[in-house]
Formats: sequence, C-alpha cells, structure tokens
Amino acid sequence: MTKLIFLGPPGAGKGTISQRLVKRQGMVQISAGDLLREAVKKQTPLGMKAKAYMEKGELVPDQLVIDLMVERIRQPDCKQGFILDGFPRTLAQAEALKKNRIEVDKVVNFLVAEDILIRRLSGRRMHRITGEIFNIHTLLPPPGTKEADLIQRPDDKPEAVKKRLEVYKTDTMPLIDFYNQEGRLVNVDGEGDSEVVLGRVLKAMQ
Ligand code: AMP
Repeated sequence: MTKLIFLGPPGAGKGTISQRLVKRQGMVQISAGDLLREAVKKQTPLGMKAKAYMEKGELVPDQLVIDLMVERIRQPDCKQGFILDGFPRTLAQAEALKKNRIEVDKVVNFLVAEDILIRRLSGRRMHRITGEIFNIHTLLPPPGTKEADLIQRPDDKPEAVKKRLEVYKTDTMPLIDFYNQEGRLVNVDGEGDSEVVLGRVLKAMQ
C-alpha cells in the first residue's frame, strides 16, 4: 500500500501521472481540484463558496478544502493507498493532515520550467462531455472530435494562470522545505513525455 502526495505547480502533470499510476497500481487518485469542480458543477454549498476563488486562480480557503479532503481520505477505498493530487497546497493544509493522523510515505515534487507550464496550461482543453484532457500542442483529440466540444477551463485563461503560478510560489512552495525536513520529499523531473515521467515517478517510489 502506497500513500503519496503529488506536489508541484499547476501544469506540472500531477493529474496526468496520477491517472496513469492509478491504472497500474490500483490506488485511488484524490484530486482536490476535481472534487471542487464537481462541487461547483452540482452547485453544492461548498461549490457555491469555492467557485469565485477558483475562477480567479486563487486558493479556496483552507478549512473548506481540509474538511473535503479529510472526509474523502477516510473512505474505505483509500485503505489500498492513495495519491493526494494537489493537496496539501498550504502549510495549514499540511499541518491538518498531521493533526488528523494521515501519514504519507513519499511526497513527489514535480520540477517543470515555467515557460513549459504556461505552454501546457494555455494549450489544455477538456472534452465537455467525457472530461478527457487534451492539449492543442501535444495531445490532440481523436479525429472526428467536434471543436465546440473542447472547452478551456476558466482558470486556464492567461490572467488566472498568472495568478495560479504566483499563488504556487507564495503558498505552496514552502511545502517543499516542510516535507524535505521530514525526509519524505523526492524530486522528479516532470518535463518530457508522460510515459517517461511516469517511469521516473515509479523509480522515485522505490
Ligand atoms: P487544480 O485542478 O489542482 O489545478 O485546482 C484548480 C483550483 O482548485 C485551484 O486553482 C484552486 O482554486 C482550487 N484548489 C485545488 N486544490 C486546492 C487546495 N489544496 N487548496 C485550495 N484550493 C485548491
């Protein structure tokens, strides 16, 4: 059973590599962003509170995300291991994991240069119906896919991307030191093809 945190800036490939690892290893991917987007879509009380922060590229307040994630991690399917994808993103969230006695084995820190992050995020498109992720630069949708069905996430627009990268630097980067001091951090080069990155992550997990 492996318990992992995937840390890294937006566009680092945390979600993509999580999905590939889930297919291989049968653990659960818990994406804070996906859970929040689901709440927004369903217009739950949490979703209504989170929406404006997300659209601007800001972080949703700690306590809302902490409650959501702790409850999810306590579900029985997480006993087989999990990947926390995009959580924690602040020191307060990392402390909350400890307080709730949620331990992880390793924290995988994805390293990707900023120009590559911006290119990935600006090119990202989501299929309106299936939710599949494509990229106009690197991962084209299958032939026959209607262009109108491919949408850009509101927070992948340039202004929000700029904000998300700033927020990453101020609020999330301190976690690198935090987990390094605990001896759990492993740095992984997140540039290049996702199969190659997956190979590096698997090696780092050993
Ligand atoms: P992501 O899909 O991981 O890029 O997350 C999309 C958005 O959801 C972020 O820009 C935040 O607004 C929100 N979000 C995701 N994870 C967190 C978190 N751990 N803490 C606060 N807000 C988050």
